Amino acid sequence: MNTTTQPAHAAAAMSAHNFRLVIQGELVAAQDTFDVVNPASNTLLAQAPKATAAQLESAIAAAKRAFPLWAALSWEERSGYVQRYADALEARKEELITLLTLEQGKPRATMATSEVDAAIFWVREVGKRQLPVETIEDTAEHVVEVHHTPLGVVGAITPWNFPVLLGLWKVAPCLITGNTMVLKPSPYTPLTSLFFGEIAVGVLPPGVLNVISGGNELGQLMTEHPDIAKISFTGSTATAKHVVASSASNLKRLTLELGGNDAAIVLADADWEAAVEPLFWAAFGNSGQWCIAVKRLYVHASIHAAFVERFVAFARTMVVGDGMEAGTHLGPIQNKMQYNKLLDLFDDTRRNGYKVPLGGTIDTSLVGNFVPVTIVDNPPESSRVVQEEPFGPILPIIAFDSDDEAVAKANASPYGLAGSVWGARVRAIAVAKQLETGTVWVNEIHIHGIDIPFGGHKQSGMGVENGHEGLAEYTNTKTYMFKK
Ligand code: NAD
Repeated sequence: MNTTTQPAHAAAAMSAHNFRLVIQGELVAAQDTFDVVNPASNTLLAQAPKATAAQLESAIAAAKRAFPLWAALSWEERSGYVQRYADALEARKEELITLLTLEQGKPRATMATSEVDAAIFWVREVGKRQLPVETIEDTAEHVVEVHHTPLGVVGAITPWNFPVLLGLWKVAPCLITGNTMVLKPSPYTPLTSLFFGEIAVGVLPPGVLNVISGGNELGQLMTEHPDIAKISFTGSTATAKHVVASSASNLKRLTLELGGNDAAIVLADADWEAAVEPLFWAAFGNSGQWCIAVKRLYVHASIHAAFVERFVAFARTMVVGDGMEAGTHLGPIQNKMQYNKLLDLFDDTRRNGYKVPLGGTIDTSLVGNFVPVTIVDNPPESSRVVQEEPFGPILPIIAFDSDDEAVAKANASPYGLAGSVWGARVRAIAVAKQLETGTVWVNEIHIHGIDIPFGGHKQSGMGVENGHEGLAEYTNTKTYMFKK
C-alpha cells in the first residue's frame, strides 16, 4: 500500500460523498446547500445540505412518532440496537476518521483516531448501562419505588471542536434511556454528524435518530419547539444564555456543557519535570480548541523559570500543519471566525509587550488557519490572555507565591469547568478541594469515563454528562407508591 496516495484517495472519496439529512430513517437532500471548508487549505471540502424550517419540523415529527415504540422496548432490546450501531460505526470508522480530519483539522493519526475510537467505545459501553428501579421502602404496608422514564424528543446541539465525540456522547445516553433525537451539529463541522447519522440508517428504527444541518437559526428553532422535551447543548456560554431563554416556552430540560478557563496549578513540591509533557498536551492538544484545555498555567515562583524553559523546549519540537500529513502534531484552527479572534488576541499580547518565549506571530500568508504554539511568560492577571478563553494554541504561564494565592487566582473566573493540581499528594489534594470546578484532577489530567460524571460549575454549565447522573438527565424521575 502506498502510504502517501492512500490518504489522498480516502480524502477524495469523502469529499465526493453525497451528504444528506437523516430524517425518518431516510437520507434526504435539501434544496439549498452550504460550503464546508477544509481548515488546512481553506478550500471547499464538500457541500452540506441546508435544512429548511419545514425539514426540521419533519425531523422533529419523525422523532415524535418513533418515541412511543422506542420507549416501550425493554432496556435489553434498546441495548441491542445501540450496540449494533456501535458495530456499524466500527465498520466505517476509517472513513469517519478521515472525514473528521478533513473538516475539523485535527491530526488523523493521533487525535482524530482517538476521538473516533473513544466515541465508538462510548456508544458501545453506554449501550450496556441501565437505570435500575430503586426501592426506597418495602414494608408490610407499603412499597415506594423510583423509576426513570424517558422524556420524549431530545434536541442535541453540538460545537465544532469534537463533533464526533460530543455528538455521540449525547446520542448513546439519549437512546438507551428510551428517548429519540434530533441532532444539529455546528455549521462549521456538519459532515461527520451527517455521516454517523447515515450509518444509523437501517440499524436503528426509523425516526429514532435524525440529523439535520444548516445555520444557527435551526438551533434557535429547536430550543423554541414545543415538541422537544430536552435540549442537550455543548457550546459557548454566550449561546447557552439564548438557549436558556428560548427553552422557557415549555420548560425544557437542559443539559449545558459550556466554555471554561481551566487553571492548572504546579506547586513548589511537584515533580514538575514529569508534569511538563502532560500539561503541554492538556493545553495544546487539538490546538487548544478544547473546553477543558488548560488555559491558565500557574507555577510556583521557585520553579517558574526552570519550568518555562523546559516547557518551551518541549513545545519547540511540535509540528503544526495539515492533519492528513504524517508527522503533524497540531492541526489548524477549525474556522476563520476563531482564527480572526486569535489574530486579535495575539495583537493584544504583542501590543502590551508581554514576554513571549515561543511563537507570538501568526503568519497570515499561509493558506490554512495555522497558528503557532505560543507561550506567554507571566502576563498580568488582568491581561486578556489570562481572563479570556482563547480556544487556540496560546498559553500564559504565571508565577505565584503561595497556595492560597494560586487558589484565589484560579477561582477568580466566571467559569468553573475543570482544573488540576500538581504536587506532593496530600498538599495537592488540599489545594484541589478548594477549586470551584466540576472536575479536579491531581497529578493527572483529562481522564474521562463512561461512569464518571462531567459538568461545569458557575457559567461553565448546568447538569452533567456521563455516569449515572448523566443518564438520569435524559429521564423523568417517577415515584410509585403502592399500598399493600
Ligand atoms: P457556539 O455556542 O457558537 O455554537 C454551538 C452550537 O450552538 C452550534 O451548533 C451552533 O450552530 C448552535 N447555535 C448557535 N446559535 C444558537 C442559538 N441561538 N440557539 C441554539 N443553538 C445555537 O459554540 P462553538 O463556537 O461551536 O464551540 C466552542 C465553545 O464550546 C467554547 O466555548 C467551548 O469551551 C465550548 N465547549 C464546551 C464543551 C464542554 O463539554 N463543556 C465541549 C466543547 C466545547
